Amino acid sequence: MTTPDLGLSARAAPAAGIDSFIEKTPLERYVAPERPSLVGLSRAALAEAFGSIGIPERERRMRVQQVWHWLYVRGAACFDVMTSISKEVRSLLDRHFTLARPEVVAEQVSVDGTRKWLLRLPGETAARPHEVECVYIPDTERGTLCVSSQVGCTLNCTFCHTGTQRLVRNLTPGEIVGQVMAARDRLDDWPGQNPPLGAIVPTNGGRFVTNIVMMGMGEPLYNFEAVRDALLVVADGDGIGISKRKITLSTSGVVPNIARTGAEIGVMLAVSLHAVRDDLRDTLVPLNRKYPIKDLLEACRNYPGLSNARRITFEYVMLKGINDSLADAKALVRLLKGIPAKINLIPFNPWPGTVYECSDWEQIEKFSEVVFNAGYASPVRTPRGRDILAACGQLKSATEKLSARERLALRAMAMTD
Ligand code: SAH
Ligand code: SF4
Repeated sequence: MTTPDLGLSARAAPAAGIDSFIEKTPLERYVAPERPSLVGLSRAALAEAFGSIGIPERERRMRVQQVWHWLYVRGAACFDVMTSISKEVRSLLDRHFTLARPEVVAEQVSVDGTRKWLLRLPGETAARPHEVECVYIPDTERGTLCVSSQVGCTLNCTFCHTGTQRLVRNLTPGEIVGQVMAARDRLDDWPGQNPPLGAIVPTNGGRFVTNIVMMGMGEPLYNFEAVRDALLVVADGDGIGISKRKITLSTSGVVPNIARTGAEIGVMLAVSLHAVRDDLRDTLVPLNRKYPIKDLLEACRNYPGLSNARRITFEYVMLKGINDSLADAKALVRLLKGIPAKINLIPFNPWPGTVYECSDWEQIEKFSEVVFNAGYASPVRTPRGRDILAACGQLKSATEKLSARERLALRAMAMTD
C-alpha cells in the first residue's frame, strides 16, 4: 500500500474566544492541498462532500458506508483498491479527493521499542511546513499512541519542552485522525498485514494500536471542536473502533471545556495537576492563574460518568526540590479525597536548557508510598523513549530545534519563493 503525498482535509482554524491564543501565522497563508483528503471527515461531512461532486442523494449513505469501511477498517490509501465501488465512482472520487495522511518525514526507534514519528503538515509556504510529533508506546498487552492536538502550545508550562515552541497553530480533525492512520500505516496495523521486522508490538493477537492518549504536543481543550470531531471518528465502532474507555484526553486545566469533554466526547480524562498549592501551580502551569485548583477540582468532581471503574487520572510531574516533599504527597491525597481518581507520578523528563531536575528515585519511591498507602495503585509512570526525546513533555518539532541562523536562512528561502 502506498502513502500518497501530503494530505490535509481543511485549513486550520484558530481556537475561538481564547485570549491567550497567539496567532503567529496568518491562516490564509497555509498551503492548501489541491485535492482535499477525506481523512477525519464525519459521516455527515463525507455525505456533503459526495453531494458536492454530484453523487446522487439516494446513493450517498451507501457510498459513505463503503468509503468509511475501506478507509478505517481496511486502511485504504487510495480509491483504486475499493473494489466494491464501481470504477466510475472511484475515478470520480479520485479526481476530487485523496485519502492522504500527514507525511511521515522521520522515524526514530527507541531501545525500548517506542517509536517517534515526525509528521509534516502544510505551513505558510512549501519551504516552511509545520511539523508535529506522534509517539507509539508498545508493551505486550497494548500499544498506546500519543497524539498531538496543536503545533506547539500557547500555555508555556515551565517544565515542558513543547511550551517553549514559538510556532503555534491548531490541527484539523484530518490531521489528528491522520496521526492514527499514519501510525497504523507505519506499523502495518491493518487486516492481513504483519508488523515490520523487529518492531515491538502487543503479542496478544490483537491490533497494534489499542489505546490513544491526547498527550502529545498542544493543549487539546484549546482546540476543542477539532479534537472532539477527530476522537468521534477514532471511536466509531464501524471504523477504527477504539473504544472511548481506551482514549484519554489530558488537559492542563481548561475548566470551561471539561464539562463539554464529558458531554460531547465522553472519553477518559487526565488532568495535569503537578502542584497542590496555587502559588506553586501558578508558576508551573501558568493557566492556573485563570483557573485555580479549587475551580479545576470542582469541574473534575462534576465530570459525567465518574465511578470507581471510570476514574480521572491526575498527573503529577516529579520535580526535585520543587513539588516532591512528603508534605506535598500528603496534601495531594487530601486534595483528591472524594473524587474517583488515579494518581500518575511522572518522573520529570529533562530537555536541553531546562532549569528543573527529576526528583531522586528514592524520593519518588517515598512519595509514591504515601500515595499508595492512601489507596492508589501503582502510581509511577515509567518513562518511555527517553533516548529519542519521545517521553512526556520532550516533544518539539525539528524546525524549532534549528539554530536561529538556520531559521533565518529558512525564512529567507521562504521569502524568495
Ligand atoms: N497539554 C496537555 C497534554 C500534553 S502534555 C497537558 O498539559 O495535560 C502531556 C503530559 O506530559 C502532561 O501531564 C504534562 O504536564 C506532562 N509533561 C510535560 N512536560 C513534561 C516533562 N518534561 N516531563 C514529564 N512530564 C511532562
Ligand atoms: Fe502545553 Fe501541556 Fe506542555 Fe503545558 S504541559 S505547555 S499545556 S503541552
